[in-house]
Amino acid sequence: MRTRGVLADLHNHSCLSPCASLEMSPSLLARRARERGIEVLGLTDHNGALNCPAFAEACRREGIVPVFGLEACSLEEVHVLCLFGSAAAALAFGERLLGSLPRLPYDPEKLGDEVVVDADEGVLDLPDYYLGAALELGFDELCLAASGSGALVVPAHVDRPMFSVSSQLGFLPPGPYAAVEAMRDPDPSLRGGFAVVSGSDAHVPEHVGRRAFEVELDPEALAAGRSGGGAEFLAALGAALRKGAVLPSWARAGTAAGSPRAPGAA
Ligand SMILES: [Zn+2]
Ligand SMILES: [Zn+2]
Repeated sequence: MRTRGVLADLHNHSCLSPCASLEMSPSLLARRARERGIEVLGLTDHNGALNCPAFAEACRREGIVPVFGLEACSLEEVHVLCLFGSAAAALAFGERLLGSLPRLPYDPEKLGDEVVVDADEGVLDLPDYYLGAALELGFDELCLAASGSGALVVPAHVDRPMFSVSSQLGFLPPGPYAAVEAMRDPDPSLRGGFAVVSGSDAHVPEHVGRRAFEVELDPEALAAGRSGGGAEFLAALGAALRKGAVLPSWARAGTAAGSPRAPGAA
């Protein structure tokens, strides 16, 4: 089967993340991503997946392949993307992480709102606990738990001066990673031999798609991902990442693929 290069962006926050803008509903995120030519889109709120059901419907409406994730924060304050093929799998893992989330006093006024919404931006719930805290789970343990639950595990922004393997641990430990995510072309010591993807880490609408990457995928896997076959799609995405069939944003810049695409263009 011939593959084709598609724009993907696996790291984005919605209004469930206390640090994200309230207007970042799953539906706005999916709409902006479609306008920017993104075909594979991840939702990765801090330590929680409660907006994944709305995200599933929002992506269906936009014709986007959804990847259901969360950005877990280890005990050492390292951020890790945990990516699943279904909203149910992401919700189950989020539920499991809740057992390791310290119940700190949470003041939405100071720390930001956490809003669970539906695909039409109706408010469903306002969790009364703070999702931005570090879990009581060490980095290695967290990565193993995620991969054991079927997730693609991607250490987030490995080159960022905060909340990363480089800032918190000083190195990339061996682990069950599908790839690592970086903001710029990282030092080889932070790659660990894995493929490097870029991610927008969008917390506001203007940042959606700012660091999308290109990945070579089988059109059949994309079709499966669009029609509820998330497990099949996740396996294909994992295989493409492990093969290194990716072009991060800095490698796309200046190439034909790096030029802006028309809204909705394939
Ligand atoms: Zn992060
Ligand atoms: Zn993030």
